[in-house]
Amino acid sequence: MSRSARVIWDDALTSYNFGPSHPLAPVRVELTMALARELGVLDKVEMSGCGPASDDELAMLHDRGYIEAVKRVSVSGRPDLAVGLGTTDNPAFAGVHEASALIAGASLAAARSVWEGAAEHAVNVAGGLHHAMPAAASGFCVYNDPALAIAWLLRQGVGRVAYVDVDVHHGDGVQAVFYDDPRVLTISLHESPRTLFPGTGFPEETGAAGTAVNVALPAGTGDSGWLRAFHAVVPLLLHEFRPEILVTQHGCDSHALDPLANLMLSVDGQRAAYAALHRLAHETAGGRWIATGGGGYELVQVVPRVWTHLIAELSGHPVDPATPTGEGWRQFVRERTGETPPLTMTDGRNPEFRDLSGGYDPADPIDRAVMATRNAVFPLHGLDPMP
Ligand SMILES: [Zn+2]
Ligand SMILES: [Zn+2]
Repeated sequence: MSRSARVIWDDALTSYNFGPSHPLAPVRVELTMALARELGVLDKVEMSGCGPASDDELAMLHDRGYIEAVKRVSVSGRPDLAVGLGTTDNPAFAGVHEASALIAGASLAAARSVWEGAAEHAVNVAGGLHHAMPAAASGFCVYNDPALAIAWLLRQGVGRVAYVDVDVHHGDGVQAVFYDDPRVLTISLHESPRTLFPGTGFPEETGAAGTAVNVALPAGTGDSGWLRAFHAVVPLLLHEFRPEILVTQHGCDSHALDPLANLMLSVDGQRAAYAALHRLAHETAGGRWIATGGGGYELVQVVPRVWTHLIAELSGHPVDPATPTGEGWRQFVRERTGETPPLTMTDGRNPEFRDLSGGYDPADPIDRAVMATRNAVFPLHGLDPMP
């Protein structure tokens, strides 16, 4: 299915580190790359390095004054609350500019690889920092690498970019940057803002032309409900919008074990979502697909397996869920974290779902969420909201 897939990686990407007690611990991407290597997944992709985003590249969407403020914090290591650095969520640390610019540079490298045709698909598992705003850090995010990748594509003359965000949190930063830009379709599926940060992402947030799409799912939603919602909204809109390129954010904090949120997906459900996005990249965007990581705070049991599945999916050689994780990786996990590693690549779930063709149930909170989204945006795309 895939002509070529590229993984953008540099060991220095793990320097994005808010300190030992912060949930976004870089060991999660370190363990991901180790597991992908152990299972031979990295042998089936092209590995490519990256450099930091330049100030001019960051300024495609970030205010110059903000970039300068982040640089000052980077030197001093001291807080600057005016730009959101030095809070519990976003602690100030020395080197924060360099670490954040490198993550942005990795997503720009992924965008360049795909748009210039060097690779059909490309992924930056360290990226997906979707909460960063033009002039403020937010939600563990300093520079908004997926929005920068999209901004770069627009500068190359791309006329239509679709962004699908499956992180458990609303992709508010990306939505905000392109809210009034009809060239960019942003779709975010997330836990309802009534129960989770950042408190936005209601279906009524539709952008100027229906190009902001929000599916706000009730706490407790599991694989079958999540996949039902995804398939009731995302494929129809992508087929209608016909993007020239698809950008996806793969936060895996929708997993049942994630400590920060309240959805109940499994590794198997998340793997099914990634496979669906891969198919949609080929069906609607000529195969041009840029993927990033995102949230994900169960550092050992969830993130490494899910994002190894993501890289494998990009490569066109998916990893069978029953595959053992491998003794070398398990030993590395024990030494590096002191935790007991998962033994296989599955949670043992079968990610089945019913689509909306059988009608919807007005008493079901998931169906109500789906219909709220369809009613808000489908007419703006010439689509009938009724199933
Ligand atoms: Zn492919
Ligand atoms: Zn998240």
